[in-house]
Amino acid sequence: MKLSLSTRLVLSYLVVILAGMAVITPLAWVSIGDLYLASQRDNLIAQARLIALALQGSALPSSQQAYSQTANASPGIHTRVLDARGAVVIELAAPGGSLDSTPAALPSLVQDATGGVTPAEVLARPEVSQALQGKTASATRRVSQAGGKPVLYVAAPVLAADDSVSQIVYLASPLADTRWSALPAPLQAGFIGVLALALLLASGMGFLLANRLTRPLRELRQAAEEVSHGNLGRSVPVDPSIPDLASLGSAFNRMTLSLRQADQAKTAFIADVSHELRTPLTVLKGSIETLQDGAADDLAAREQFLTSMGQETERLIRMVGDLLILTRADAGMLNLIREPIGLFHLAQVRCEAFTLPARKRQVRLLADLAPGLIPQENDLVLADADRLTRALDNLLDNALRYSPPGGTITVTLEREAQRVVCQVKDTGPGIPAANLPFIFDRFYRVDPSRDRREGGCGLGLAITRGLIQAHGGEIFATSQVGQVEGQGATFTFWLPPSTL
Ligand code: ADP
Repeated sequence: MKLSLSTRLVLSYLVVILAGMAVITPLAWVSIGDLYLASQRDNLIAQARLIALALQGSALPSSQQAYSQTANASPGIHTRVLDARGAVVIELAAPGGSLDSTPAALPSLVQDATGGVTPAEVLARPEVSQALQGKTASATRRVSQAGGKPVLYVAAPVLAADDSVSQIVYLASPLADTRWSALPAPLQAGFIGVLALALLLASGMGFLLANRLTRPLRELRQAAEEVSHGNLGRSVPVDPSIPDLASLGSAFNRMTLSLRQADQAKTAFIADVSHELRTPLTVLKGSIETLQDGAADDLAAREQFLTSMGQETERLIRMVGDLLILTRADAGMLNLIREPIGLFHLAQVRCEAFTLPARKRQVRLLADLAPGLIPQENDLVLADADRLTRALDNLLDNALRYSPPGGTITVTLEREAQRVVCQVKDTGPGIPAANLPFIFDRFYRVDPSRDRREGGCGLGLAITRGLIQAHGGEIFATSQVGQVEGQGATFTFWLPPSTL
């Protein structure tokens, strides 16, 4: 059966409340019954004392009536006066009871063999023997002659002038079989009414509580549906009074926020790509049109245009290749072919590859090993040689482009417990602190005009970071521009060692 969460919650509340009631109701039942019995006994004692007081000093007939137990079976209070030898002097049946209070009915009782109790037996009863000693006493016993029903007895002494016990007022009242049936009908109805009201109130409260708990979930479901239909601006209200639901709501809002940010980043990326592609394409189109307009006939002009077209095409191919790497890195589809590579050896090889352009720019290139780092053992990383070469080349290329003549580029290597750390440091102008957090973003350039002249379009560092991260490493940049003159920029990346 498919039940909604709020129905399940209401049902659970009801089950808990019913279980509670199942424990409490019998207890309340027993207590109320006991209270009612106690009040009945107190009543009977008060009545017995009153009668005893009224009889004090009066001369009563002496009689030898036997005590009838059977008479006690009929409801009401049965009143008897006993003499000190246990014989019944006066017997009054309860109104509507089986015994007529007229003396004529008495002889029949005397002959009642089944219900008859001898005077000695009557005197042996604890409440009667207590009354003989001058104390009012009560007792409850089940009486077989009254169908096994419990009977409440009260015995009160009637004192003579010399304070001796002359008679005993002996009251008997049959009790209900169970505590519940002992209660009068209005009390029973009231008890059931209170139970029903409690159940009704509990259901109402359960419904309200369940509704309060499930409302945020319903809102969340509604919002998730809207997000799935493309409404990324949707958020849900967060009610801090229920911490679990509040954290769920906050997590949902954080999720939609990051979805919005990712969506904006994607839109910005597409806009940037279009913009970057448009420039070389415009140059190409212009060159083609100029050639078509007759420049093709001029040999020198044609050469110049074709060279420019070749450069722009080269730039386009490079950019498309870069974008492809970035997209693959994002999708985790770089398909790295990993093998153990000595990072120091690779750094040396790449520095050598850059020797010629570095010499042209009068920049010194150094590959340095931290003391204590033994190659072949400590600088091994598990990496794709081509991809790692590309990452290192990007850093060296940048360092070279930004180094002034006479500057120095240093590549250092260090081994830490869980990683091999590589630094590419230059003595160029460095990167202002305000720009540092963004330099790994796609198409980000600190000075766009300068970089376009230099040929970069702001993808180099984004690719480097994508490649390093794909190898399980991380990269960051530091620079002390304005603080220390000529400190340049330092790019630090680390990779997990192949021995891990
Ligand atoms: P590009 O492909 O244009 O070089 P990069 O992603 O490699 O782009 O670099 C982003 C920006 O970071 C560059 O435009 C430049 O402003 C800055 N940058 C990178 N390397 C250095 C460096 N060694 N010294 C100073 N600025 C640098």
